[in-house]
Order: sequence, then C-alpha cells, then structure tokens
Amino acid sequence: MTARIVSIGSDDLDCKEIYDAAEIIKRGGLVVFPTETVYGLGADATSPDAAKKIYEAKGRPKDNPLIIHIADPVDAEKYTYTSELYYKIAEAFMPGPITVIMRSRDTVPLTTRGGLDTVAVRCPENPIARRLIALSGTPIAAPSANLSGSPSPTSAKHAIDDMHDRCDMIIDGGECEFGLESTIVKIDDDGSLVLLRPGKITVTDLVMLGVDVRIADAVTDKLGEGEVALSPGMKYRHYAPKARVVLLDGSAEAFAAYIKANLSERTAVISYTEDQELIKQEIPSADFYDFGSRSDLAEQAHRLFGILRDADKCDYDVIYAPLPDKDGIGLALYNRMIRAAAHDIIRL
Ligand code: AMP
Ligand code: MG
Repeated sequence: MTARIVSIGSDDLDCKEIYDAAEIIKRGGLVVFPTETVYGLGADATSPDAAKKIYEAKGRPKDNPLIIHIADPVDAEKYTYTSELYYKIAEAFMPGPITVIMRSRDTVPLTTRGGLDTVAVRCPENPIARRLIALSGTPIAAPSANLSGSPSPTSAKHAIDDMHDRCDMIIDGGECEFGLESTIVKIDDDGSLVLLRPGKITVTDLVMLGVDVRIADAVTDKLGEGEVALSPGMKYRHYAPKARVVLLDGSAEAFAAYIKANLSERTAVISYTEDQELIKQEIPSADFYDFGSRSDLAEQAHRLFGILRDADKCDYDVIYAPLPDKDGIGLALYNRMIRAAAHDIIRL
C-alpha cells in the first residue's frame, strides 16, 4: 500500500481532499493527520478491524491502548461515563492538548482500548483534525503516527518517513504547533486526578481547577521490577534514537567540560542557543544541535523530536543533552528525554 499524500491549509476545510480522508476513515482505512501536539495515525475508533490496522501499521503492542479523538467535548458521553470533573477540564482546556481517561462504555471496542475497562478521550484544537473527525461521523482512534518506539512525528515529512507504505492517506498540514504529545490525566473512581503523561497543559494549569493532582511515579522515575504502569505506554522504550543518549545535569561550563573529557568518535551535542559558541569552541569535532533558548521551553518542546530524528540518521556513538528542569512545560521535556536516554543521567 502506498499512501496518497495531500496538503490541506487550515483555511481550506471544505476541500475535496478532506472529504476523501473522511471517506477512508468511514470505510475502515488509515489516515495520518496533523494535530496541535504531534501527527496522528487515525482510524474509526468504533471498528475493531480498523483499530487493529493501527496496531499493525505501527508495530504497537496490543495492550497499549489508543486515544479516541472527538470533535466536541460532549461527544464523550457516548463513549465514557463522564463526571463533573470531566466537564471542568473540558471547559478549561478543550479543544486542546489534553487527554482524559474515564470508564469506557461498550460503544468502544476492547481492541481500541487495549483490553482495559477505561478509555482515553481527547478533543484536538487543530482545525484540520476537528473537521476530519466531524466529517467522518465517528470518533477517530489515533496514536502518534510513528513506528512504535521512535520519536513522534511533528511534521508531515516525519510521518511520511515512517508511514508512507503503511496507511491510505497522509494529510500534510504543516508543522505541529506544540510538538510533544498531549497531557494525559486519569479521573479515578474516587474523583481524584492522576497525571499519567505531562504535556502543554501543566500541573499548575490543572491545580488551578481546584483539584488535587497526583503525578504518577512513571512520569519521572524508572518503574521498579514488577511494578505496573498506570498507563501501558509508559513501560515501553520510547523516543529513543539508535545512539546512546546521555543527559547531563549541571552548568554550561561543566556540560562542555564533561563532553570534552568523554568524547567519542562521533558525538552529537544538543544544547541551548546561548551555549553554542562555548560548545563549538571547546568541542569543535562534535555536531551541535540547537535546542532553542534556555528559557524558551515551548521552543525546546517544538524542536525536540525533530532533533532526535535528525540525529538518528547520523550514526552517532553518543548524543549528549542537558537534563531539563521539571517546572511547567519542563516536566514534559524531562519525561520524554529520560525515556529517550533510557534514564541515563549524569550529575555534574
Ligand atoms: P500515543 O497514542 O502514542 O499518544 O500514546 C497514548 C498513551 O496513552 C499511551 O501511553 C497509552 O498507554 C496511554 N493510554 C491510552 N488509553 C489509556 C487508558 N485507557 N488507560 C491508561 N493509559 C492509556
Ligand atoms: Mg506514541
């Protein structure tokens, strides 16, 4: 199968291509589409056969459930048992980069939800995504449109690299605005909120709703032997390039000095724009990848997966990067980067 690749502008939501894409979803096919977080690989969430194709195309383990995407927050009624807290979250942040896990209704096949009794629901903000869901007349199950284990795609080019021969259509809607996957929260039976995956909607944003938020251990730490992940996806290797990735925790000077003392033949350095000169001067033989300004976490989020993908093509022995702080959006960067580094952190 070779995917048809089409470009759609956010101001062109009545074009023939988007109707074609909706037809593919209705017929049980696979469509890659842009969202404000990363590109998604979509199929009809209510069809077990269609959902199965997603797992196959990605090489995704069958116990790693899919997020279902809806066009309007109230559509969650048809697929889950909602609560007051859900509507509080929806009113504050939907449409937007947040996913809420609740108890599932039978309308969602077990294949879609990886055999669990809960289901993850998200209402994306990207106009192409919303229009596609609305025209399809069904919720769209969509994980990130990458091969399982590799960094999520933040441009159509990334998605084409991974999915061109594994789906029916790829919609190029430009670069994803944010660049890291959605924040995932679970509403537990006692009405409390657990953060399973950090994203653009931060812990502070959630606490402002007046609810207690518990951060799942797997967000920042390695799971212990035999420990069960609240979110199945957290137990899998993720975002990891082929090279060893090492995170360094320390000042710019200590960062440069450590790399200089531990150079290997092919070394890449991901670092802040402000430190570029220092690193190029101290370690001229290493390739420098600009992570954006030290204080601009949104820019770093925007660049991270693209940098990991580019670096992956260069056969490095080792990729060094700074360990981010855990504040605000930093927690999302921290969570993705410790996975990319398989928790290889060196304190300087
Ligand atoms: P992705 O689709 O690549 O953005 O990943 C979705 C993440 O959501 C994975 O880590 C899944 O394990 C997680 N997820 C989806 N549905 C559920 C659920 N019902 N309960 C817990 N985690 C879920
Ligand atoms: Mg993913």
